[in-house]
Amino acid sequence: NLSDKLDKAFHVLKGHGQITEVNVAETLKEVRRALLDADVNFKTAKEFTNTVKEKALGQDVLTTLKPGQLMVKLVKDELIELMGGEAAGVDLSGSPSVILMAGLQGSGKTTFSGKLANFLKTKKTKKPLLVACDVYRPAAIDQLHVVGDQIGVEVFSDKGNSDPVAIAKAGIEHAKANGHNVVIVDTAGRLAVDEEMMNEISNIHTAITPNETLFVVDSMTGQDAVNTAKAFNDVLDFNGVILTKLDGDTRGGAALSIKSVVNKPIKFIGTGEKMDAIDVFYPSRMADRILGMGDVVSLVERAQEQYDEEEARKLHKKIAKNQFGFDDFLSQIQQIKKMGSMKDLLGMIPGAGKALKGMDIDDDAFKGVEAIIHSMTPSERSNPSLLNGSRKKRIAKGSGTSIQEVNQLLKQFNQMSKMMKMMQGGGGRKMMQMMQG
Ligand code: GDP
Ligand code: MG
Repeated sequence: NLSDKLDKAFHVLKGHGQITEVNVAETLKEVRRALLDADVNFKTAKEFTNTVKEKALGQDVLTTLKPGQLMVKLVKDELIELMGGEAAGVDLSGSPSVILMAGLQGSGKTTFSGKLANFLKTKKTKKPLLVACDVYRPAAIDQLHVVGDQIGVEVFSDKGNSDPVAIAKAGIEHAKANGHNVVIVDTAGRLAVDEEMMNEISNIHTAITPNETLFVVDSMTGQDAVNTAKAFNDVLDFNGVILTKLDGDTRGGAALSIKSVVNKPIKFIGTGEKMDAIDVFYPSRMADRILGMGDVVSLVERAQEQYDEEEARKLHKKIAKNQFGFDDFLSQIQQIKKMGSMKDLLGMIPGAGKALKGMDIDDDAFKGVEAIIHSMTPSERSNPSLLNGSRKKRIAKGSGTSIQEVNQLLKQFNQMSKMMKMMQGGGGRKMMQMMQG
């Protein structure tokens, strides 16, 4: 995919101590190829790499950043710029505010109409009305009703009427009479751009003068998306683009080219078939996605999971060998704390969840416990039976707690160890099942 390709491109720069015209050119050739492969329009890709080139060569080569990193940054900044800088909202100022959907058949207009209505209803506490202007297929009107029912938004339709302009107008009147402050007009599309469809959408557009005309495009259509966007924009001069179906293994090319070809912002993205699969479009997130630097959070989470799995495996081994000590106890506590809410997470401690369940635990509950364990010597931690009266006194003093608290912790620890031994008695496989379950 594009990220891999760009990765390869940046590779050229790694190991080079400075940015020279030669290695910049080499890198950008790769970047351009990667963009073209991702269905970015040729002109866009060329302009893009030219801009990055100028910026790269204008940089002080003595910069602290490594050239590869600098290029990643330049490319990312330029991607963000290309896709529109800041995220753009929709105009909700009308009374009612009228939003017209346009796009080819199957691009996701009806689905997105529902998603947007749901979004405005829940996020902006608006009272939307959906208007069904796809008069060619009765099923299209039914589809919008199904969507409306799902999200609890009223749908205005007129099955006997074959004039979408009249329906759109009547819909707006209906909204005014019934206190709807947003009207979303869903329209018919065709499989390809044709004159009849363009005339129809243009007539609706002229008749209802929408606050927003949104061009809905399937992001999987790649290069075609740009041509379609251009055709619709020539007729409608739309306000923004909706990029649907960005949930699958979709190439980022469309997002990149559309903005530069029609100079209109991408406003929302669709990321699934369900009504809540809608996101405000953030150019920087999209740039991250395209560059594969994105989803840093989920990557970190995944790494975290792996780490935790590894830790759990080690712990299982220790328990099996009867070597569970206070260090392990402490690392378990730290893991729980790291993860956030106590209550939900108790069950995640292998084996310990059941032992701790009866305890009243809040987020500060482990503070004293940690202090106590920190005040133990390493040998005390791995061999708690060493803890006699004078050692306990020393630990209480060192941790700013009391002997009672130290005893309390010891009691809990012993309970836990006992339980773990018990489980061990049940045989290896059974123990593992219990600890994981
Ligand atoms: P319309 O002809 O433009 O009204 O398109 P529809 O809203 O009927 O959508 C066509 C198909 O694409 C339907 O099967 C939708 O469920 C699906 N669809 C729409 N948006 C998305 C999306 O963001 N992700 C996915 N995976 N499917 C979508
Ligand atoms: Mg439709």
